[in-house]
Amino acid sequence: MKKQLERDQAKFDKVWVRFMEIVCPVCNGLTPVEAFCPQCGEPMLDGGPVEDYLGSYSPYMEKGTCQEQNYCIHLLYCPDCHYDVRAAWEMIIV
Ligand SMILES: [Zn+2]
Ligand SMILES: [Zn+2]
Repeated sequence: MKKQLERDQAKFDKVWVRFMEIVCPVCNGLTPVEAFCPQCGEPMLDGGPVEDYLGSYSPYMEKGTCQEQNYCIHLLYCPDCHYDVRAAWEMIIV
């Protein structure tokens, strides 16, 4: 009887894990981008994630990939002076 219960619990855990997703809060609109241009002080805009761009460097950072996956790298740009910078956001579990 107890064994049966444990099996059910295990089944439940598996289903629960499947519904948890690791997402970037900025990509999903959960966190507003609040950064200001260091050159002119204008609010910077989110240019979107640059994962693909970084992907082209993967041969050089193969060993660090596991750690990098916990972050989503975004390109922030200033609409005024076109200064741009890359910023990493920590992925969250939803
Ligand atoms: Zn993102
Ligand atoms: Zn600027």
